[in-house]
Amino acid sequence: MECPNCNRKDLGKIGSQQYYCWNCFIEITVVNEEVKIHQIESDGSLSSLNDLFTDEERKIQW
Ligand SMILES: [Zn+2]
Repeated sequence: MECPNCNRKDLGKIGSQQYYCWNCFIEITVVNEEVKIHQIESDGSLSSLNDLFTDEERKIQW
C-alpha cells in the first residue's frame, strides 16, 4: 500500500495493521478497509489527521 499523504510506497510495517511513513512521519492504521492517519508529536502522543483526507483518499490502495 502507499502513503495517503505522499503516495510513496516506502512504508515501514510497525504492527499487524500498522504502518509508518518515513517520508512524512505519520502512522497509518488499517481498520476495516480504511486507513486512519495519525501524526506522532514530539512528546510521543498521537494526533489524528483523518480530517485532512477524504473518505476516498483513505480507502486502501494496495
Ligand atoms: Zn507519506
